[in-house]
Amino acid sequence: MEKSPRAQTKSATAASIPAPAVKPAAPAGPRELGWLPDSVYTGEKFEAGMAFFADAHGRIARFSREPKDLAIARRLPGQAALPGFVNGHSHAWHRAIRGRAEARSRVANEPLATWHEALTRTAGGLTGEEIFDTARMAFLEMLASGITCVGEFHDLHHQPDGSPWPEPNFLAQEILRAAHDVGIRIALFQVANAMGGPPRTVIASADQFVRDTEVLRGFLEKNFPADEAWLGVGASGVGAVPPDFLKAISTYAHTQKLRLHVQVSERAIDHEACIAAHGRTPIALLAERGLVDKRFTAVNAIHLSDDDVKLLGAARAVVCACPTSARNLGLGATPVEKLLAAGATLALGSDTQVQIDLLEDARLLEYALRTGRAQRAVLAPDSATPLFHAATFAGARSLGATGGALDVGRPADFFTVNLFDPSIAGAEPGALLNNLVFSLERRAIREVWIGGRQLVVNGRHAQQGAIVGRFVDSQRRLWAS
Ligand SMILES: [Zn+2]
Repeated sequence: MEKSPRAQTKSATAASIPAPAVKPAAPAGPRELGWLPDSVYTGEKFEAGMAFFADAHGRIARFSREPKDLAIARRLPGQAALPGFVNGHSHAWHRAIRGRAEARSRVANEPLATWHEALTRTAGGLTGEEIFDTARMAFLEMLASGITCVGEFHDLHHQPDGSPWPEPNFLAQEILRAAHDVGIRIALFQVANAMGGPPRTVIASADQFVRDTEVLRGFLEKNFPADEAWLGVGASGVGAVPPDFLKAISTYAHTQKLRLHVQVSERAIDHEACIAAHGRTPIALLAERGLVDKRFTAVNAIHLSDDDVKLLGAARAVVCACPTSARNLGLGATPVEKLLAAGATLALGSDTQVQIDLLEDARLLEYALRTGRAQRAVLAPDSATPLFHAATFAGARSLGATGGALDVGRPADFFTVNLFDPSIAGAEPGALLNNLVFSLERRAIREVWIGGRQLVVNGRHAQQGAIVGRFVDSQRRLWAS
């Protein structure tokens, strides 16, 4: 969601698309690790009696039904294993606003005024240390919900008064440190915002933005394995970044082969303001400047013209819908059915963190269509499959991540669910994905593994007590009045 006042029809199976080549992560352990859940989701279906193994780098090396392999794999009784979710769009620091912006606006014609007030107070109040604490809280909750990779839309750059830190990328480094500490993979999108919104978010010139971003790229490459943390670039909206600035970041992204994410057409008023200023829609403006291609992700993209939909589809671009956030803010719904029909790819994001639950995001998309049409299974004859794909593989594509599917060569990033949890108990393999997508409650998630390393045990992260405690302290200070 912009800070200024302001299922995919599976065209290719996960198995048919090779994992991107990246510098391998440090070895997770000295030898092969294997798991044998009651069933494992291999991209098309759940399979029983199948173990899967990761190599010393935490990559899936093989699947096996051989008795000797089943005997040595770690047994996960009563559980099913699925690829970790990929959160395509997050502002970690918005976690500090949860519950503080639910009152009705008292400002005429500005329904988001309450939310913007809370946002401004939070942006102006959080210390660097508290931003680290808040990011850890958000990333911890993501992990506990089965998310193993996040696209962090990093838009809080400066000190509270808007002046730069002595190290301009200090807060980006704090976000990266938080992700590393919790153990989640992160695509850090350095976000351009030239005007509007809290002073901490503003980088006035394209030259400055590119300079800082290039330094950040060097920092990332020096300090992190390429599939643990990597760089993308973003823009907070076409109304917040002048066309020449947009062109400059687009050129930088293309030169460095980085993913480009832009929040776009989130509110009708922003969409119409762009038409008034430039004579074209935000998507048309971006396409005209060469930004819209298969590396491009339009975030939220709620108010789209039919031509916008065609442009995004023809470019094979990704659209990252954030339904729980958009529902909370009263923004409307991304026209996912039209976008998928046109050829765009659909990913999902938690955006303002009002909820962190990508399955809730997934089911909301289908339910908005059902409610609007008084029909069932609108998105596809089997809606659960494209919705789960949006929450996993399509998100990985949007972020340039290596995960998103349990497949040889991809990282062993997965979560398990308790098959005896009341929300899904009794689901046979043929009905399990439907049960998960439409009915799973988050407490059913038992274990989360990233790169062959276990980070959540029995629904709990090893550092949960400390991370929650520090976050609660920072909330008390921030909201004491
Ligand atoms: Zn956003």
